[in-house]
Amino acid sequence: MRHDSPPCTAAEALTRLKAGNERFVRGEARFPTVQKEILAELAKGQRPYATILGCSDSRVPPELIFDSSFGELFIIRVAGNVVSPEIMGTLQYAGVYLHTPLFVVLGHECCGAITAALAVHEEDAVMPSRIGLLLDNVLPALDTLPAGVAGDQRLHAAVEQNVRWSMHQILATPEGQARLAEGQVTIVGAVYELETGRVRFLD
Ligand SMILES: [Zn+2]
Repeated sequence: MRHDSPPCTAAEALTRLKAGNERFVRGEARFPTVQKEILAELAKGQRPYATILGCSDSRVPPELIFDSSFGELFIIRVAGNVVSPEIMGTLQYAGVYLHTPLFVVLGHECCGAITAALAVHEEDAVMPSRIGLLLDNVLPALDTLPAGVAGDQRLHAAVEQNVRWSMHQILATPEGQARLAEGQVTIVGAVYELETGRVRFLD
C-alpha cells in the first residue's frame, strides 16, 4: 500500500496531537491495549499523521503523551532532540515517502542533555568524548540565551532555544524550504512539562 498524499493537513495533525495530550493529562487515554486487527491492518503499510523529533528521556514517550497508537506517529528519539545527518535523513524519509504533514521538535523541561550542554558552554565542563560530540549540536542554541537569567529559568530558556535551533536547522535545508513554500507541511516546536504531563506548543 503506497500513498502519495498526506493522510491529513498539518493543521488537522496538530489538532490531533493537542487533543491526545489533553486526554493524556485528563487520564482518559484511549489505548490501554492494541487490538490484533489493528496490527494486521498496519502490517500492510504505515500512514503516520505526524513526525516527532524528541529526546530519549524515559519520561517523555511521545506515543503516550499524545495518546497515540501504533502507526500514528513517526518518531525519532535522540538525547537533546538534536539534528545530525542521520536524523536529517530520517526526517527526509518521513517527508518524501510517508508524507507526514506535520513535523514536531519536542523538547522537555529538565533535559539532562541541555543541562550538560549548559555546563560545557558556561563552565567549561568536560564530557566523555562521544557525549561531547552530541552536545556540540546543542551549543549554538546557547549562544543566544539572554544574560541575567540563571538557574532553573536558564535551563528552561535553554530547552526552548534548543528546540528552536533544531527547527532552524531543519528549515534551513533546501528540502525544508521547498516543502514549506508549497504550504502543505508545517513544523512546530513544543516543550513537554514533566510534572503536569502537558505539552506546550511554542508560538
Ligand atoms: Zn532530554
